[in-house]
Amino acid sequence: MARDVFGLDLERIEEILPRYAIEGPRYTSYPTAPVWTDDFGVEDYKRELAGDAAAAAPVPGEGDGLSLYVHVPFCSSLCHFCACNRVITSKAELPLKYLDTIEREVAAVREASGPRTASQQHWGGGTPTHLTPDQVKRLFYTVTDAFPMREDAEISIEVDPRVTTDEHVAALRECGFNRISLGVQDIEPKVQEAIHRIQPIEQTRHLVEVSRASGFEGVNFDLIYGLPYQTEESFSRTLDRVLEIEPDRLALYSYAHVTWIAKQQRGFEKKDLPGASTKLRIMLMAIERFLEAGYRFIGLDHFAKPEDELSRALEDRTLRRNFMGHTTQAGVDLIGFGPSSISELRASYAQSQRNLDDWHDAVGARGLATMRGHHLTRDDVERRWVIGRLMCHGVLRAEEYEEAFGQSFATRFASELQKLDPFVADDLIERAPDGSIVVLPLGRLLVRVVAMTFDAYLAEQQKGEKPMFSKTV
Ligand code: SF4
Repeated sequence: MARDVFGLDLERIEEILPRYAIEGPRYTSYPTAPVWTDDFGVEDYKRELAGDAAAAAPVPGEGDGLSLYVHVPFCSSLCHFCACNRVITSKAELPLKYLDTIEREVAAVREASGPRTASQQHWGGGTPTHLTPDQVKRLFYTVTDAFPMREDAEISIEVDPRVTTDEHVAALRECGFNRISLGVQDIEPKVQEAIHRIQPIEQTRHLVEVSRASGFEGVNFDLIYGLPYQTEESFSRTLDRVLEIEPDRLALYSYAHVTWIAKQQRGFEKKDLPGASTKLRIMLMAIERFLEAGYRFIGLDHFAKPEDELSRALEDRTLRRNFMGHTTQAGVDLIGFGPSSISELRASYAQSQRNLDDWHDAVGARGLATMRGHHLTRDDVERRWVIGRLMCHGVLRAEEYEEAFGQSFATRFASELQKLDPFVADDLIERAPDGSIVVLPLGRLLVRVVAMTFDAYLAEQQKGEKPMFSKTV
């Protein structure tokens, strides 16, 4: 019997996908980070925090919530696939110095923004649980003393099971964290050895059990396909073990071989990486397994149980996307703390110094460490709205655009809409005469490619010699 995924014959999918395996943004922001410039500095960020720009360029149809992001950059050892901004260290003094500096940064942001209550907080890294349980509490209360959390707030953290203890879990629950995301990647010993990340499944299972028993409401696993030595069979074994644990959400990321950013990836022999067609088969097999196991496809690389908030947000079209990925409660503003963190305010983006020492110096000198950013133009705001609808809702209703921006969607984006014909032919999207777009399941997998049609900066970015973005598949 012919296998199918998303109701489409597997062979047809395997014929379509390679044609769309191109470099493209993940659209956690629009415009994307390469567009931002260092003309945007500390004073601009302060003004944006104070809300001046909100009056000038409101985003239609949005609420006034606040999300917080905290970047903890430390890790104990380097995973060879990793392209994150992190500092590998075993020195105890580095986290202590970090905590002192972030206290100054939080205080400076609070002074600029005035009092606000947050509905969401997320910690990423690095490895946030590289901090000791007491340091976790100190950092959490530093942030929430300045920006109190709403009663029903979603408070989530990324953890590395290799360094996260039962005491960490207890400290996190005491603070109020209610979602935990575990880096799992792959369970096969040969793959783990190649990526320099030995993490027995028992360690992962134990952490999930302790987290659930202590009251965490949601558990997410991150998996990666395309790693050295992975085959369809080996990744199927990984999935057997993962699905036994029944995480509430799954993220299935494509390994991005970006040796010009992550130099340690040069240690991977190209011959040991699965070829393009094997990689594609691994991904499709994984999707089949997730759907069979009852997960819903949220879009791009996210899956969730039907009762999970992400699934519900997809259904009632409240799903949002920001630097933390797909999210349910993000409001207009996201404020980031820590080195390399990004803030998304109503009409601007701001990023802090990426290098840890530069971040310490900048915060020490001025309280804030803004190194670059971008003021959104009216055109940016409109395109961000369009890209956000496609990426998160899978539906773009022309009448909603017209209501928000007071002009015809079909007229405003006439040239972009003409470029969508191949996507219609390949069953990625459906289109209505008024310009409305429905992204079909296969299109949700390739939604970055559809969204790229509306990116006004991309053509210029694609002229450069070095690729700026990872591959879409
Ligand atoms: S623990 Fe996470 S952030 Fe740290 S090196 Fe490994 S993958 Fe990168």
